[in-house]
Amino acid sequence: MEDCTSFDQMIAETPGHKLENKFRHLWQLVGNTPMLEISYRYKQEVRSIHVKCEHYNLTGSIKDRMALYILQQAYFNGQIKPGDTIIEATSGNTGISFSAIGRALGHDVKIIMPDWLSKERIAIIKSLGADEILISKEEGGFLGSIALSEKMAAADKTVFLPRQFENKYNAEAHEKTTAREIWMQLQSVDLTPHAFVAGVGTGGTIMGVGKYLRSRNPSIKIHPLEPAESPTLSTGHKVGSHRIQGISDEFIPAIVHLGELDEVVCASDGDSIIMAQKLAKQLGLAVGISSGANFIGAIKLQHELPPGANTVVTIFCDSNKKYLSTDLMKEEPVKEGYLSPDVELLDYKAIHR
Ligand code: PMP
Repeated sequence: MEDCTSFDQMIAETPGHKLENKFRHLWQLVGNTPMLEISYRYKQEVRSIHVKCEHYNLTGSIKDRMALYILQQAYFNGQIKPGDTIIEATSGNTGISFSAIGRALGHDVKIIMPDWLSKERIAIIKSLGADEILISKEEGGFLGSIALSEKMAAADKTVFLPRQFENKYNAEAHEKTTAREIWMQLQSVDLTPHAFVAGVGTGGTIMGVGKYLRSRNPSIKIHPLEPAESPTLSTGHKVGSHRIQGISDEFIPAIVHLGELDEVVCASDGDSIIMAQKLAKQLGLAVGISSGANFIGAIKLQHELPPGANTVVTIFCDSNKKYLSTDLMKEEPVKEGYLSPDVELLDYKAIHR
C-alpha cells in the first residue's frame, strides 16, 4: 500500500519496544478487510455496489480501526501510559473495540453507555473484562453518558478519555487505512469510485474516507447517511427515535463538517432491517442494521448517477450477531416508500485484499 512508510514509521516510533510489537501484531487483526462487488436487480436493471466488509475486523466492527489508531497515537503523544484506565462513552461497537484492544494492551477499561442498546453489546463488553455503567433516558441517555465520562476523567489523572466524537485521530484512522484500502482494491479491478456513502455515528468513517478518496478523485460525491426517523444531520438536533444502532446519536459530532460533504441520504429503519435480512437470507451475508441502511443509500445514489460513472462504495459496519435480540430477527412490516422489497440480490464477487 502506498504511503505506508509514515504509518509503519509511526508504529516503529511508538515508545517502548514491547508496545511497538503489540501494536504491530494488533494491526494484523485490524483492517485489510475484504471488498465485495454485490450485484442486484432494481427497477428491471442489474447493477452492482462495492462494499467494504468491516465485520471482518478483530471484534467484528468498523470501530476497531479507530480504537487501535487512537490508542497508538495516544502512546505516541504521551497522553496514555501503562496502568492508565480507558473510559469511553459509546453506543456499543466502540465500547467493544476499546475493551478488547485496551485489555490486549493491559489497561483497565470502563464503558459508559445508554441502557437501551442491544443485550449482546452489553454482554460482550462485560465478557471482555470491562466495567460498564448503563445510563437510562431519565439520567441523560447518550449525552448523559458523555457528561459522566468527562466528570470521571476530570477527577482522575490516570484516566485516558479517547473522546471519539471529537478526536481527530478517529477520522484519520479511516483516511490512512479504510480509504486507502478501498482505493487500492478498486484500482486492482480498474475502477475509480464515483460516490461513497456511510451512516454517521461519530462521523469518523465518512470524514476520513471522504477526505482521502476526494484527494484521489476530486469529483467524487461523499454522502453522509442518517435514519429517516431521526434526521439529526438535516435538522441540527435530535428529532425522534430509530432502530439503526450505531448511527445518529442525538447530536452532530464535532468531527462532522457537513460543508465538506454532499447531500445527506436517508434510510428508514424498517427498510434497513429488511435489507439486512435480505443480505443474510439471499446472499448469506449476515450483517447488522446500519449495513442494510448503507446498502439502501448506495442503491439510491447509484440510480442518480450517469451510466459509466456510477461506481458506488459503502460499508458493512458489523455482523448481525449483536442484533439477535432485536427487531432484525423479527418479521418487519413493509411500509410505503421502502426500497428493499423491490431489490433482488443476485450474487457477489470478492476483490483481493
Ligand atoms: N454502524 C455501526 C453499527 C456503528 O457502530 C457505527 C459507529 N458508531 C457506525 C455505523 C458509524 O461509524 P462512525 O462512528 O465512523 O460514523
